[in-house]
Amino acid sequence: MRENEPRSSRSAPNTTDVPDTSWTAPPRFEDVLADTSVDVLVFADIDGVLNARRPKWDSRIERRHVRTETGEYNVTWSPALVTELRQLDHHPRVRLVWLTSWGPEVAPLEDLWGYLPRWPRAIPELLPTGEVPAAKHAVIDRVAAAGRSYVWCDDELAGDVDDVTEFGGLRLEIRPKSRHGLEPVHIERIWGFIAKVVAGEDRRALRDTAG
Ligand SMILES: [Mg+2]
Repeated sequence: MRENEPRSSRSAPNTTDVPDTSWTAPPRFEDVLADTSVDVLVFADIDGVLNARRPKWDSRIERRHVRTETGEYNVTWSPALVTELRQLDHHPRVRLVWLTSWGPEVAPLEDLWGYLPRWPRAIPELLPTGEVPAAKHAVIDRVAAAGRSYVWCDDELAGDVDDVTEFGGLRLEIRPKSRHGLEPVHIERIWGFIAKVVAGEDRRALRDTAG
């Protein structure tokens, strides 16, 4: 049950209210950004990244009608990609963060895709469409300025870069084709990027030990 759904009005005189534990609040993005045990923040857009009409994965495709507070949407995705992203998030030095215009309405999609625990939302509120690009860029600029290494997957706004930011973090920006979303080759690039960042961290640790 989602937080904003009406609770059942059914009640009996002797029953005790049991807290609804099916809704768990996602971690705050601020907390994730401040967590220095995280080496790589992976930002994922939804439309054109996970929700894509013709996924390029060698697996079945799922289609579902999703109702949110703002309307009804047809969502198409590859369960194989969902699994791949979940595995990225299981890496102890990696955190996945939603960077999407879906705002709080990402929760029904997380339910659909089984993303529990929920992922932090870099943009927690619904914004007018015209304000979304600037809001996304502001998040990425902030992450870069903090010297953090990041991956940004967005079919309209991400660059196509794999380099070092002016603040010293590493960045990988992936702009998938909107109709395909993220493809297997993109996931391979992300794993390669994570390995590079983590290896750099290890080298620094070795140097510190030697010094
Ligand atoms: Mg998009």
